[in-house]
Order: sequence, then C-alpha cells, then structure tokens
Amino acid sequence: MAEESPKPSPLLPTFARADLSFERGEGPWLYTDRGERYLDFGAGIAVNSLGHAHPHLVKALGEQAAKVWHVSNLYRIPEGEKLAQRLVDATFADTAFFCNSGAEANEAAIKIARKYHAVGGHPERFRIITVEGAFHGRTLATLAAGGQQKYLEGFGPKAEGFDQVPYGDMEALKAAITPETAAIMVEPIQAEGGVRGFTPQQLREMRELCDQNGILLIFDEVQTGVGRSGKLFAHQRSGVTPDIMSVAKGIGGGFPLGVCLATREAGRGMTAGTHGTTFGGNPLAMAVGNAVLDVVLEPGFLERVERISLVLKQRLAELKDRHPSIIAEIRGEGMLLGVRTKIPNTELAAAAREEHLLLVPAGDNVVRLLPPLVITEADVSEAFDRLDRACARIEASKTGAAA
Ligand SMILES: *Cc1c(COP(=O)(O)O)cnc(C)c1O
Repeated sequence: MAEESPKPSPLLPTFARADLSFERGEGPWLYTDRGERYLDFGAGIAVNSLGHAHPHLVKALGEQAAKVWHVSNLYRIPEGEKLAQRLVDATFADTAFFCNSGAEANEAAIKIARKYHAVGGHPERFRIITVEGAFHGRTLATLAAGGQQKYLEGFGPKAEGFDQVPYGDMEALKAAITPETAAIMVEPIQAEGGVRGFTPQQLREMRELCDQNGILLIFDEVQTGVGRSGKLFAHQRSGVTPDIMSVAKGIGGGFPLGVCLATREAGRGMTAGTHGTTFGGNPLAMAVGNAVLDVVLEPGFLERVERISLVLKQRLAELKDRHPSIIAEIRGEGMLLGVRTKIPNTELAAAAREEHLLLVPAGDNVVRLLPPLVITEADVSEAFDRLDRACARIEASKTGAAA
C-alpha cells in the first residue's frame, strides 16, 4: 500500500513543532505513540514541576473531578482560599488573585500597579519600566512589557505605558523613572531571555529605587517560581521582596494555573468588580495547586533540589570541558539551567532530541535544562550521557563536513 502524504494540520501554524507525539509519561520520562522513551529535561517549559503522572497530583485531580469542576467566582471556593493562604504564609504577600496563565498573572500585576496609583490620586502614574531580554507573555500588554520587536511586529500599535532599559544597566533604570512611573517589573532570572539572573545587589538597588520614588516592584516569577530556582521563589535568595509577584507554570504541575500575589497596600485599589476571570481559581486548578504545594513545601524538598542541581551543574561543567568547541558557558540556579553554545543553540537541542533528551532553546543562544524538580542523580547521569553523545554527534558531523 502506498504511503499517504500527511494531511495538513488544522491547527493555526503558530508553533514550529517537532514531529513527536507523546501518549503517556512517568516522572521525567515521556513515551511516544511508537513506544519510544524520551528523558524530559524541558518539563513542558518548566511546567511539569513534579514530572509526569505524579501519584499525589493524579489523586488530587481525580478526587476533585468526581466532586465539582467549576462553580465560578460568584461563590466561595474553599480550596482556593486554602491555596491563597498557603502562598501568603510562604511569601511577602497578603493577598492572591488566581487566573489560568502567566500572561494573565502579569496582566493582573500591571492592573494592580496602575490602580494603586490611581486610587492614591495619581492616575498619571501608569508607566511600567521593564528590562531588555524580558519575557512577560503574549497578550497585547505583556508583549509591550516584554518589548521584543519580533513578537510585536504586525499587531498594530504597541500598548502604551512600557519603558524598556538595557539588561543590568542600573543607571539607565534610575534615569527611566519619571513622575509617570508606576512600577518596575522584572524576572529575577530572565528565563526565555537566556537564563540571565540579576545579582542580589541589583535586586536590592531596584527595591531602593522603588522605595525612594514611591513606585511598586513587580517580580515575574512565572518561570522561576515554585522551587524551580532551588528556593520556593527565586527572589528569596536575595532577601529583597516585591510588592507584587506573578506566578504560573510550575504551580499547576501541568494543570493551567496562574496567580498574582500582592501586599495589602499594593492591592488597595482592587475592590469588587475591578478585575475578574471566569475560569480562574476553579476547584480543579485549586486542588492541583494545593497538591503541588504539599510536595514542594515538604521539609527537605527544596534542599534536595539544590543538591541535585549542584550535581547537574558539575556534570555540565565537565561537559563543557569535554566539548569546548560546542559549549561556551553554564548558567542558572536550581533546575533552571542554561548552556550557552558556540554553535546555533537549536542545533544542540536537535542533537539532544536525536539522543531522546528533551531540552528547550532560549534567547542569547542558550539551551535550557528545565527538568522536573524530582529528578534523581541517576537521571542526571542519563542526561549527561545523552548530551555527551549529542555533542559528539555534532563534532563528528563538523569534521565529516570539513574532510
Ligand atoms: C512563560 C512565561 C510567561 C507567560 O506565561 P503563559 O502561561 O505562556 O501566558 C510570562 N513570564 C515568564 C517569565 C514566563 O516564563
């Protein structure tokens, strides 16, 4: 029988997808519909924080699914109040707004910051300062916040109210503050931007600038949060606290869930009717969010993440020594690590995929390793071997081409 040519996909082609489809997962492993096994060090872009099919999460979702899925925010949702309380107890925050994604959490953060000044008698203070290389999402406002020309192109005028300064330039940051500035918004570690972290000193200076100028500090911890950096939240390493923080990705462990946390003061303008969501905070998401926290907040869990991270970093340093023509630099914290390459980063990601190791490219010619937080030393060794073979494969193809 003749092979049929594949039908064109009915999906809007906004993604360049690899020709792989997975039908089940277990821990850090994914299995394709052809029965092949892949080591998942991408974790659905830092989402599957506890790996695939974690028994505690499966149980929580299943039990909630049999009770009630959705009631809307016209009613109280006890699981949501519980999750909010746990997040408040573990952070700087006094209050939480649940939504379904990172971009929505950032939209809430931006609205909270603007409203704070409006109810304080300064509606003209609505501008937000962000940093080049940032990624805050794909809605019209969060695109403007991220400021990346390639993502803004063709979508009409850029949403008003965002001013961008070069990464790491504290003088430029200071100079960008005007009487119209509402907030500074940054990722403590730029993830999509190439795993570039701010130093504790830079975060402290941002906090001081905000305090001196009566403006709010927003941390976007959508990718860095919920243990990804080895701390519950990446900023906790610096001792600096924000006024507002967005969280998503890892907090749902694979279920769509975002949250915007704020101090009572920062959230002072957000009264009934000022913001909303139909799906946000629904009982399914809340059950899973609580189950993720059950595991991540267990004593010793984050210490273990830091310990395994150290092993992984050591192995990556070894890999750099073994393949100096491919690997330029190792970056990152916890399970948010970056390998900056001397070849196109997508080439290393593709070679790793050939070795059945899933990684995620980032900006600045970096390939990210974002494994589930629950990986073992054996998983690290497995990833090392696969990356080592991927690098050897690239080297062989280069010498082959030269010969
Ligand atoms: C992924 C990401 C977002 C956007 O999250 P979505 O869930 O895709 O809307 C925002 N900020 C950061 C730092 C992210 O990594």
